[in-house]
Amino acid sequence: VTEIALAGGTVVTSLDPPAVVSGDVLVKDGRITGVGTAPEGMARRDCSGCLIIPGNVCAHTHLYSSMARGMPYRLEPPTSFLQILQRVWWRLDRALDESSIRASALLGGMEALLSGTTTVVDHHASPNAIDGSLDIVADALEELGIRSILCYEVTERDGYERALAGLEENRRFLTRRQRVPFGRPALTRGMVGAHASFTLSDETLKACAEVAREQRTGVHVHVAEDAADERDAHARSGVGAAERLLGAGVPPADSLFAHCVHVDAPAAALLREAGVTVAHNARSNMNNRVGRAPVRSLGPRVALGTDGIGAGMFAESRAAYFRLREEDASVGAAWALERLASGARFAGPAFGEPGLGRIEPGGPADAVVLEYSPPVPLSAESFSGHWIFGLGARHVRDVLVAGEVVVQDRRVTRVDQGKVLAEAMTEATALWERLDDLPAHPFEPGGGA
Ligand SMILES: [Zn+2]
Repeated sequence: VTEIALAGGTVVTSLDPPAVVSGDVLVKDGRITGVGTAPEGMARRDCSGCLIIPGNVCAHTHLYSSMARGMPYRLEPPTSFLQILQRVWWRLDRALDESSIRASALLGGMEALLSGTTTVVDHHASPNAIDGSLDIVADALEELGIRSILCYEVTERDGYERALAGLEENRRFLTRRQRVPFGRPALTRGMVGAHASFTLSDETLKACAEVAREQRTGVHVHVAEDAADERDAHARSGVGAAERLLGAGVPPADSLFAHCVHVDAPAAALLREAGVTVAHNARSNMNNRVGRAPVRSLGPRVALGTDGIGAGMFAESRAAYFRLREEDASVGAAWALERLASGARFAGPAFGEPGLGRIEPGGPADAVVLEYSPPVPLSAESFSGHWIFGLGARHVRDVLVAGEVVVQDRRVTRVDQGKVLAEAMTEATALWERLDDLPAHPFEPGGGA
């Protein structure tokens, strides 16, 4: 079906500012053609008693961690951020092979769709399976029908050779994927991935920035997530991590800086002025006890990510809101919606889709049908309250990406849900076993732990 009307629902056409109308959402050839009354004879999906919202964007995640829940790591429990990397994530990524990368991407992508997320901005690492890894992730996500912006994490923690291989993987993938394939919308785009200032030399950082510029994209990188990254940047270059990255020539307007917990006030102002989008990951920051990001001083380009804690943006935006309210009661519920809209404003241009994140004529038909009959009045004014205090992934009934129904009646439509889960179980069991043989990663940042 290239034409469908989501009929009879209440439609949230924009999150920032919230706009709510009643009408049928008309979809043709992947695009929204109108919100109004479906013409006679148009295929329709009954959405009465439902709320239709723009698809959610997760602005920073790691699909490779999809199978890490409950993973035993059989080493002393980590007590600092660096130990969490050394004992958990930098062991997991080394244990990944091609089949576990694919299983992770299918599982994470499927769970994202089922929670109402239609675009994921992913940051991938698999130091023992670098070449072609982004294609494995892309193929899995395209099978599911979810939109994504992918990158490979360049890092020197596993040596210079692997940093170069990582950079080459980004370049190879970008060269192939940035072109729009003829006759169908491209659901996958690329960026240049970099781990963080503290695992990268000036030379490699500059090379990342160069590939990004050459490919007309930005760098997706962790910035000042922990104080150790700031200290290391000062020890290496005399400035903080954010300044160091911009100084290396990272294109600001196309780049995505995840976390920015430890940026100081001048660096926050610099990021704001330069137009860098910041991916705020509230739950991950709390879980790793890295500190609180100065989200209000980072300005309007703060988007929300999960950092691998699923890709459900109802849960993430709610946690981010409560976390911020705890320190600042002047924050309103609309703040969460503004942050989600920022994620769409970042992701849209990568697809040549400035309308991503809204339900408007001409824009891509990325929409979520929520089985939510408001028990109290729902309007533009009250919508943010419904979002924080009423709505959740449990309400997701259908999901459209580029006009295609990829979740229908709470099941993904393009892959066998049971098969994805069974494949994940097999792969996770083997992955967890491989992990047992791996010691903690020895890499240490400079500047003192
Ligand atoms: Zn991350």
